[in-house]
Amino acid sequence: MPSKVGRFGVWAALAVTVLGTLVFVHTVLQGYRERKAVEALSWALANQVVVVDPGHGGIDAGARGPGGTLEAEVVLGISRNLAAFLRQGGARVFLTREDEEAPEGESGDDLVERVRLAQKVGADIFVSVHANAFNEREYGAQVFFNPGSKEGERLAAAIQEEIRRLLKNTEREPLGLDAFVLRSLNIPAVIVEVGFLSNPQEEKLLRDKDYQRRMAFAIYSGIARYLAERKR
Ligand SMILES: [Zn+2]
Repeated sequence: MPSKVGRFGVWAALAVTVLGTLVFVHTVLQGYRERKAVEALSWALANQVVVVDPGHGGIDAGARGPGGTLEAEVVLGISRNLAAFLRQGGARVFLTREDEEAPEGESGDDLVERVRLAQKVGADIFVSVHANAFNEREYGAQVFFNPGSKEGERLAAAIQEEIRRLLKNTEREPLGLDAFVLRSLNIPAVIVEVGFLSNPQEEKLLRDKDYQRRMAFAIYSGIARYLAERKR
């Protein structure tokens, strides 16, 4: 019988390989279609000025996961990807920080400098990227807007919807939040909390470079859909 078992093993291995290849091709095609669908909306991004604000930086690393992952690093990775997607789409993009250092300026307050940059460049949209921390059970990305801003709420809803649809790992709803960077700007502005670093599973996802790209793409898609809807 060993030869039969051996042959069975070969067939099983072959079946697994074929199945694996099919799943891989399917995933790649799905990603391709998603990208095409969002590219079709990129006309709405042309000439839009978007400020992408990776939270924290410098001595302020933000939240820290149980595995040691730092919020400041995760949000910088996602923000760089987001900026690249937006530029490809035709937007003019400014990052409030390009590296590990927090934004600096004469105010001596990095939050004030983040808002000042948005005002200086005449931003149309402001997207601040953060990661949450609470306990090890909470998970899922959530988008926050200034409760007084209708357009901020619409932008938040569009991004939240795309995160839910594309990443399929949260049922959270956008939420009003009284935060300095949101209330200081008269443009659609949101804070995207990309997930909970305090949750060990989500911490693993958030430090994964591919997941960072997918999160950035979902945020990008939400911005494109919001702008397309508004210009229609
Ligand atoms: Zn934060």
